[in-house]
Amino acid sequence: MQTAPPFSTSRTDIAGQSVSDLAAQFGTPLYVYDIDPIEQRIRDLSMFDVIRFAQKACGNLAILDRVRKRGVVVDAVSAGEIRRAIAAGYSAQPGSHDIVYTADIFDAESLDLVIEHGLMVNCGSPDMISQLGERRPGSDVTLRINPGFGHGHSQKTNTGGQQSKHGIWHTQIDDCLLRADQSGITITGLHMHIGSGTDLQHLGEVCGAMEKAAIQVGRTIKTISAGGGLPIPYKDGETYVDLAKYFELWDGVRNRLSEQFGHPIELEIEPGRFLTAESGSLIAEVRSVKKVGDNLFTLVDAGFNDLARPVMYGAHHPISVAAAAGAVDASQRESIEMVIGGPLCESGDIFTQREGGFVDSRLLPIVRVGDFIVIENAGAYGFVMASNYNSKTRAAEVLIEDGQAKLIRKRETFEDLVRGEVIPD
Ligand SMILES: *Cc1c(COP(=O)(O)O)cnc(C)c1O
Repeated sequence: MQTAPPFSTSRTDIAGQSVSDLAAQFGTPLYVYDIDPIEQRIRDLSMFDVIRFAQKACGNLAILDRVRKRGVVVDAVSAGEIRRAIAAGYSAQPGSHDIVYTADIFDAESLDLVIEHGLMVNCGSPDMISQLGERRPGSDVTLRINPGFGHGHSQKTNTGGQQSKHGIWHTQIDDCLLRADQSGITITGLHMHIGSGTDLQHLGEVCGAMEKAAIQVGRTIKTISAGGGLPIPYKDGETYVDLAKYFELWDGVRNRLSEQFGHPIELEIEPGRFLTAESGSLIAEVRSVKKVGDNLFTLVDAGFNDLARPVMYGAHHPISVAAAAGAVDASQRESIEMVIGGPLCESGDIFTQREGGFVDSRLLPIVRVGDFIVIENAGAYGFVMASNYNSKTRAAEVLIEDGQAKLIRKRETFEDLVRGEVIPD
């Protein structure tokens, strides 16, 4: 098990680009992605036959393009994600498994797109089998199974067990086989994604449940997917999951099934967070430093409209300070406890909070107005959850590769904000 190096509370640059230069060139708040950690994580998972990126974690077209060029395929959970994958260059031809629609429902638009492009479907509800069967009898599908237990870093990310809306309940596999027969559909694979933040002991149970379900479905099974949920360290002392052991457990299931069925079984993994979280940082500028009773508040120009994970899950992100151009390097300053908040008219607009909304402080180098706060490991479920709350325009996104910072999404404008709004006579 590999422990992450301690997070530094000061920095001057991101992937060799000066934070103050990035801010001057692109403005703040700003999402910055470094391609290197993404490449590294793809290499880390190369023992799996297929790496399928859960694009909901970080769906910018440029990111999808770059992972596509490194052999990673995608899943799509909505019509928009199907279109996004196609726009990023993924093949949408019948028979191609580059894009898999994986959801608990079809809405009208997503079903139309799946039919139009002949896309593979991973069904999270029995109804999807029948609905697909009506439009496209003779299809192959995979099933997302809820094994009856789950595991997540928060109740909001737990995706197994009876409180979860995700997947087909494990006792309904026979019902699914019946529906599939009635619709001329073949179940060619199984998928389990039971929650972000997994541990190996728990994984053993998941593997056991997968094996049992696959045997129940039988020899039509050609693929199994381990889903996503690979954690990354957000705090000092947290470790990476032992990927060799993780793979070994799944490889064992694959090999036993392969022997039992007499044909090769393809093993997929479906990471979101693991691929992109560590690549992304959110740069915000310090706009006010004020005493409030015993607390020192550092207020920055990014809020939960830019990064929702702290307010939504009480998520902890590493935070570092970067000096304004010409100011004393942050590593040379004394540190002090501070609360970091954003500009929104909501008391929950705090980046240093625990689950339940309790305000925490963080020991960080002393800041002045004009310095920068860098919120790290923000490359998964960061920008993609951004909103226009308080009529804030969404931040720009920049990709650093080949030693250059490249704009991959323009900052939104007021025109973007009101596009589509109508004042009737
Ligand atoms: C969200 C999701 C993932 C990715 O989850 P991470 O925890 O980001 O790895 C994978 N598969 C499915 C079906 C998902 O919904």
